Amino acid sequence: MAGVSACMRIIVSEFMDDAAVHSLAASFDIVYEPTLVDRRDELKAKLADACALIVRNRTQVDADLLAAAPRLKVIGRLGVGLDNIDTVACAARGVEVIPATGANAQAVAEYVIATAMMLLRAAYQSTAAVATGAWPRGALGNGREIAGTMLGLIGFGGIGRLTAKLGRAVGMRCVGYDPQLPAESPMWGAHHTRPRTLEELLAEADVVSLHVPLTESTRNLINAASLGRMKSDAILINTARGGVVNEACVAEALRAGRLGGAALDVFEREPLAAGSPLTGCPNLILTPHIAGVTRESNVRVSTLIAGKVAAALAPR
Ligand code: NAD
Repeated sequence: MAGVSACMRIIVSEFMDDAAVHSLAASFDIVYEPTLVDRRDELKAKLADACALIVRNRTQVDADLLAAAPRLKVIGRLGVGLDNIDTVACAARGVEVIPATGANAQAVAEYVIATAMMLLRAAYQSTAAVATGAWPRGALGNGREIAGTMLGLIGFGGIGRLTAKLGRAVGMRCVGYDPQLPAESPMWGAHHTRPRTLEELLAEADVVSLHVPLTESTRNLINAASLGRMKSDAILINTARGGVVNEACVAEALRAGRLGGAALDVFEREPLAAGSPLTGCPNLILTPHIAGVTRESNVRVSTLIAGKVAAALAPR
């Protein structure tokens, strides 16, 4: 039976919700070390007899890591984007990759609407001034309401569609661009969103929100040229992946008043390097890749992946 028990080993190299870890521990030999991601040699050693690996977005699952895991059958991803996983190498090795599709969509969609409201209104940075007796009422009285604005969704998959639903609930109108979804698809009408070309969307939207994976076709999608097509008071929100947006171009557009505001949750390099051109830009919100991370989504994501990894390892 030694072989069977060795094949029950699951390694979790990043944070996972406690209840989900306990549910797996009831049936599997689970190694849960949320900081293992930062000790790659140790992670590789522990993978020698593991049949499953559960990661968030920091563990780089490449050919080198796979070579250290000869018994690996399945990788659970506590999130959606798979750009930290070499899916081609996994497929070649017959390793199944399971993302937590849909489980953090609500958190991301709420982040988009919340930051859009904050940036359109531009009135919530006055706490320190008001507390010390200043009264910048004139300067802050020119903000915009979200109702009636046009939301432009680049990428109309799970999160893009849910963001359209929340946007409509606060009175936004929606347009979308997704080359993999034909203009005649009923999906657009079902979500009260009009399909557009990328150029049309950029010119029309008051809030441009990105919901695409990072691929060769989306890398550097928002650059000087695409920013130049946007309205000069438009808001840009990136919760997708860092490489989709050129950070230096966004910084330049904000400083020059050619972009109304931006919320960036993801970056080309995470953590953002000190001395980034984004430092000190006006009407800019920077967050540390947390758009999809809430108490509720942590539980949903972990529960879903625990269930799917257990099912993938079940004897057939
Ligand atoms: P999804 O796969 O459901 O949708 C992605 C959509 O993008 C698809 O409909 C696809 O056709 C479209 N697309 C692909 N290439 C495109 C292109 N060149 N131009 C326009 N559209 C294109 O994925 P999802 O669940 O909606 O997630 C979207 C992205 O959000 C993920 O890939 C992930 O990188 C990111 N994400 C970030 C967080 C966070 O915490 N910041 C959380 C969850 C997801």
